Amino acid sequence: MEAIFIKDGSKVKNKGEYSRFDRSDGSKGLIYCCPQCGEVSGGTDKHKFNDEGDSVTPSIIHKCGWHGYLENNVFVGE
Ligand SMILES: [Zn+2]
Repeated sequence: MEAIFIKDGSKVKNKGEYSRFDRSDGSKGLIYCCPQCGEVSGGTDKHKFNDEGDSVTPSIIHKCGWHGYLENNVFVGE
């Protein structure tokens, strides 16, 4: 599924949308709407963006069972 970057993380609400945060406490990471179940998740500093900002590591495991990657602005399920 194509991943759509949303600048304002609080507006992430549709499947495949994602954002990044960079808080004053130094934590950085991913906010995303799960491509399978549509729940907005993330908000922890578990995922690191690459320099281009279009991929994260490590892979994403959602509680609904979806496991995949954000790579080159695409959510790729396994
Ligand atoms: Zn899910």
